Amino acid sequence: MTYGNTIQHDDKGNEDELPLVIPEDIRYNCQGCGRCCSGWAVGLTDEDYSRVKDVDFGALKEELKGQELFIDRRKEFEAGYSMYPYFTKARPDGTCPFLFDNLCFIHASLGEAQKPEMCKLFPYTFVPTPSGIFVSVVSNSMASVRNLGSLLTDQRKMLAEIWQQTVDHERAQGRSTQQVSDVASKITAENLKAVRYDVNLVPGVALSWEEYMHIDSRLIELIKSEEHKNIFDTLIAAGELLLEALRIKNKGESLAQLSGLAIAPETIERYKQEPPTTFENMLFNLQCFRSFEWPLLRKQYAANWAAANKSPLMEPKVLKAGFRSVLGAKVEFPDTGVVSIPEVRKYKVGELSPEINQFLRRYLYMKVFSKGFCGPSMSGLSVVAGYNNIVANFLTAILYVKAQAMTKKVHEVKIADFYEAYFLLDKEVVQVSQLPKDKAQFFDSGFASPRLFSRLLGRMAKEIG
Ligand code: SF4
Repeated sequence: MTYGNTIQHDDKGNEDELPLVIPEDIRYNCQGCGRCCSGWAVGLTDEDYSRVKDVDFGALKEELKGQELFIDRRKEFEAGYSMYPYFTKARPDGTCPFLFDNLCFIHASLGEAQKPEMCKLFPYTFVPTPSGIFVSVVSNSMASVRNLGSLLTDQRKMLAEIWQQTVDHERAQGRSTQQVSDVASKITAENLKAVRYDVNLVPGVALSWEEYMHIDSRLIELIKSEEHKNIFDTLIAAGELLLEALRIKNKGESLAQLSGLAIAPETIERYKQEPPTTFENMLFNLQCFRSFEWPLLRKQYAANWAAANKSPLMEPKVLKAGFRSVLGAKVEFPDTGVVSIPEVRKYKVGELSPEINQFLRRYLYMKVFSKGFCGPSMSGLSVVAGYNNIVANFLTAILYVKAQAMTKKVHEVKIADFYEAYFLLDKEVVQVSQLPKDKAQFFDSGFASPRLFSRLLGRMAKEIG
């Protein structure tokens, strides 16, 4: 595995003015599959809307004649309940009304510049920090989850342009650009030093940027080095590392001690012997519901809830499905219908292939490298809560791929099912990144234990292979 850190030079080999920090061996170019253009309503700024509002789309395309293409959310936007004043109105199957034959009709008929900014910026992420702007891509795009296209390190110029568009887009919405609202939009290494990166290790335990980077570097090393034989062991070891970081921090010592700190194999083995508690199993059931069934329900009923001004938690169907998942341990996955969680867990499948292991390590590396799993870009989640969210997603992905194997009556899990699982899971990660403060704090406290999922990791490692 060759994942590395930063490329900060322009084509002539000079250090560039804009300190973008780009992950190595990560690829992305749109493959035109159209999957990103479904499953959500696209938000439009006033500028986006004014570019297209007077276009007679019906005259340009028969299928768009008489169609309601946009939703007006100005009132909610002004009241602070909506991220955008307008949205595209998705078709009943969830696809964007402008998607035809997997191509964007706005792009095809009016040109790329007329597309909503959000569509132009997707799936790139930029996290400004005192060390540079960390670039990455989210996995809710089939091209990025499959690592298809050119290397990001070869697309530096284009990434710098997209960063500039991101800044302009957020300014147009009147939102601060993460931590850089007070820094000139043309960010240089010099004025980047003023950028704040506020992150806690656990709620109430603040880290400086240097302290955060000690943890970050050791986590990346753990993921890259394969010092633990499989991905389950790596994740248990990372949880132990975070626990050690908390001990060091509580003693008031330097987190530089984490460098080279090894986690003994016996420590990891212990989690394979201890069964998960009832609480841990129920939490896992809840995660499966949250990650896979809840989005299906939301897609089905969201319009009705909004029209009736009703909370989804008052909807009998949601309550019934939630109780069935958490207490009855039965969850509905896309494509498989309702499955029994204990039965799926018991279902025997072979070991994860080297290709799957590599995919999972690459995904983990991207999440940690991008600084997008905790802190300012993740609703302020602490490092431990953000890490546990990654682990919860991993465990539910394992259940998803095993459920697919069980339904097809085969005894090996497929990498294509992992792609699909992470494509769906990263859509929900976006939702977590937009949580309001009170909900984010609740999530943060609930996920603040470094070993929260260690016993489940140990047990599910034994249930596979
Ligand atoms: S506007 Fe175009 S690019 Fe954006 S979601 Fe719709 S079809 Fe896709």
